[in-house]
Amino acid sequence: MELPLAYYGSPILRKKGEPVDEITEEICILIRDMIDTLRAKKGIGLAAPQVGKSLRIFITQIPIQQKDGSYVNSELRVFINPKIVKVSEEVDIFCEGCLSIPGVHADVVRPLRITIEATDLKGHRFQESFDHLAARCCLHENDHLNGVLFVDRVRGEERERLEPALKRIKNGLIPKIQGE
Ligand code: ZN
Repeated sequence: MELPLAYYGSPILRKKGEPVDEITEEICILIRDMIDTLRAKKGIGLAAPQVGKSLRIFITQIPIQQKDGSYVNSELRVFINPKIVKVSEEVDIFCEGCLSIPGVHADVVRPLRITIEATDLKGHRFQESFDHLAARCCLHENDHLNGVLFVDRVRGEERERLEPALKRIKNGLIPKIQGE
């Protein structure tokens, strides 16, 4: 079931998510609904606070470019109680968006490679390294669990440029856009 999204200005997006103690049926249903929501919105990542649940869960599905230039979706990944254990000193800049801030895009500097530890749906703790878009997506989603939004990482004139669009969303004028 597709869930309604929390948009910029919603207090839940500023709350620190609570750790998940146990993977109950309720948590499994939430994650299934998050997957439905991510797919319906054609996003690449979604965190539980974005669907109104202040929990430390996010999911990702990163498009991978094939040799012929077309994209295929990578497998869907679930991260419960994630912890970023290592980040590279090397960074890159990439234009980000967010399903909770539709129509707003800006360049964000983030580490190029990360190692993350998390629990999967079966309750197994795993550690894995990601780079480029997959690393960026994990960091963006992990920020959501700490009440941080990508626009917080945009400073100066670039941030000022975003302000009118952010204000509109805060006032409830949500542009209908898919694929943030
Ligand atoms: Zn986001």
